[in-house]
Amino acid sequence: MTDPTREHALRRTQMEVFDLAVVGGGITGAGVAREASLRGLSACLLEARDFASGTSSRSTRLIHGGLRYLRMGDVRLVRESLQERNLLQEVMAPHLVQALPFYFPVYRGDPDPLWLVRLGVSLYGRLSGARREEVDTRLSPQALLAAMPLLRRPGLVGGARYLDARTDDARLTVATVRDAAERGAVVLNYAPVRGFGREEGLQSLTCRDEQTGEAFRVLARKVLVAVGPWTDEVMRLVKPGGPPLVRRSAGSHLVLRSGRLPLPGVCVMRGADGRMLFAVPHGAQTYVGTTDIPSDEADGPAVPAAEAGYILAAANRLFPDVHLAAHDVIGAWRGVRPLARRGGGRRVGKVSREDRLLEVADGLHVVVGGKLTAFRAMAERILDRVYPDSVGELASRQSRAPLPGARGKPFSDEMWRRAARHSGLRVQELKDRLRPYGDEAGAVLELGSGPGDLRFSLDRALLRFAVRREFALHLVDVYRRRTERMLFGGDFALLHLKSDADEMARLLGWSDARRDAEVAAVRRMEVEMLAWRAPHFDEILR
Ligand SMILES: Cc1cc2nc3c(=O)[nH]c(=O)nc-3n(C[C@H](O)[C@H](O)[C@H](O)COP(=O)(O)OP(=O)(O)OC[C@H]3O[C@@H](n4cnc5c(N)ncnc54)[C@H](O)[C@@H]3O)c2cc1C
Repeated sequence: MTDPTREHALRRTQMEVFDLAVVGGGITGAGVAREASLRGLSACLLEARDFASGTSSRSTRLIHGGLRYLRMGDVRLVRESLQERNLLQEVMAPHLVQALPFYFPVYRGDPDPLWLVRLGVSLYGRLSGARREEVDTRLSPQALLAAMPLLRRPGLVGGARYLDARTDDARLTVATVRDAAERGAVVLNYAPVRGFGREEGLQSLTCRDEQTGEAFRVLARKVLVAVGPWTDEVMRLVKPGGPPLVRRSAGSHLVLRSGRLPLPGVCVMRGADGRMLFAVPHGAQTYVGTTDIPSDEADGPAVPAAEAGYILAAANRLFPDVHLAAHDVIGAWRGVRPLARRGGGRRVGKVSREDRLLEVADGLHVVVGGKLTAFRAMAERILDRVYPDSVGELASRQSRAPLPGARGKPFSDEMWRRAARHSGLRVQELKDRLRPYGDEAGAVLELGSGPGDLRFSLDRALLRFAVRREFALHLVDVYRRRTERMLFGGDFALLHLKSDADEMARLLGWSDARRDAEVAAVRRMEVEMLAWRAPHFDEILR
């Protein structure tokens, strides 16, 4: 069975010459394809695997300015990110960006003394336009312990609290891709670009449809390469032997079992080397991370035991009575930062997160660096440079328009009650699970029962929505990126794997062999995710 939306997109690649072809469907490429479409340019977005399957589903998931970058003196980056944070939270994606208090406890002997943390948080608050009650730079040890009784007491000298936000990075990326598509862009996942050339003055990209194995060609006036940590590999297809453009740095995260580390907000932690990490509450769970380790690979999904040990040790040092061990971890992920290389030998943790745009050949641009939070502003800057004529006040205003899920009215209490009666689920459970769908919650719920279904199933509704509206083509797309089942589902993550596979097989016309392979891929991903918990891990930790 063929997917009519994909068929249509593939047909358009044969018939059109695009103003801009974007290579790479992470948040950067998605943002640029959206921005181009908003400016009335025809755009085509080509992603090798699934949208957001690279770094954009493996971040710490914070929508923030980054206090640590302020310390590095990146004031422009911090100010821009804070403005973007406010915009995402208030207008573009309130359903995907949730404000949280951030607690910064300071101990005697920490790398940053209390006065500096207070000064930094105060400046940070001012840069973000925070209201007075959102920032507290004078938290006493007692106040910190009252908020987080599990904190280590000895040496605690005080701290600060400020407001930042958390997101679902993969869903934010997919929402951006959808917005680009709805505004006219051709978007294709599982369509790697394998060659770059020129044809009659145009850029010509050789691509492959991974669904059918067939090659196709895309013609465009200009190309933007936005492949994050894969930049150097892809640039070798353009020009073998060019200088490396990115420095890769990997970061791991661990999800703790429900209730093992309950927190009222995000808590700043310190690694054994003094680096800052975060403990981030997520429903009843908390995840902790991240690390910052030079990486040779662009794709580093498996968390190494050493990084898991570093993170758990940091959490155990700050929350000593919790005694976290490997069996407390139910999920894990690792991403690779694509940092812009500028020469010099600075440690990766000290390398700027600023983005960099280069024109490597006439009409062929490449972007490296950047942050999830500032994707819209980065896309705006890129389009201003690549298509200067498209700059305009209208374009700039449209660029701030809401993403799918944030355009209509949210559900009223009465609607939630009715949905709960219909689904047999509790109102709060429905609200929690459908929050990331915003005003599309109703459309999701409608997919939970249909002819042939014995009873309503929310999981089935989410799966159908992912396939019909969110370009999911594989079971792992649904388990890892359209929903959080794989990362946060714990013991129940794979409970419906078989029936989900059957449903997806029905929707996409898979053979039995294909369905079994999809199930095996999900199981493989689960094993790889926790492979670092090899025997004796806890002994290493001690
Ligand atoms: C550990 C970690 C924590 C982070 N935490 C935060 C945070 O809390 N907040 C924040 O704002 N930012 C954070 N970041 C940064 C942010 O995640 C990245 O800047 C952002 O996701 C990069 O997106 P991208 O689109 O440039 O790269 P990617 O998301 O990696 O996208 C590149 C895409 O290109 C595709 N591709 C590769 N080769 C080809 C090809 N030949 N053809 C077509 N497509 C191809 C890949 O499959 C991939 O999907 C973090 C990063 C890491 C690693």
